Amino acid sequence: MTTITKDTAARFNYTLKDDEGTIIDQSQGEPLAYLHGHNNIIPGLEKALEGKSAGEKISVSIEPADGYGEYQEQAVQTVPRSNFQGVEDIQPGMQFQSEADGQIMLVAVTEVNKDSITVDANHPLAGKNLNFEVEIVEVRAATEDELNHGHVHGAGGVQH
Ligand code: ZN
Repeated sequence: MTTITKDTAARFNYTLKDDEGTIIDQSQGEPLAYLHGHNNIIPGLEKALEGKSAGEKISVSIEPADGYGEYQEQAVQTVPRSNFQGVEDIQPGMQFQSEADGQIMLVAVTEVNKDSITVDANHPLAGKNLNFEVEIVEVRAATEDELNHGHVHGAGGVQH
């Protein structure tokens, strides 16, 4: 039986909960497909799936360092409202793409004042423990195309 190792393609169903037991995310309808060893998924989950095979179920708790990183206070910034020209109605929770040092990142508005806007560039799951329940559905060798692209094609993967 094929086990998950570098360059295998695996599909799995998952439920992700925070430490309070609230569901943050889960696979919708069809399993998620990924290419093992290619940074398609967070490091902690990849580590937990290593060596597993189809039909296995695992529960794993992943700390922020192996998930979406620690929460960075310096990623929260207050900027002049004039930075948001052309945006009429700015509300907390809205997301914008921002470019800094040539890198595109997603920032979320956390506070809106008359002249300034506070935005947070942390990943929404930064600083959180991630509690996954995973059921592995399929494990197979990746195709040459998939290895060249660095992701899985077809159901649950990239369609192109
Ligand atoms: Zn591709």
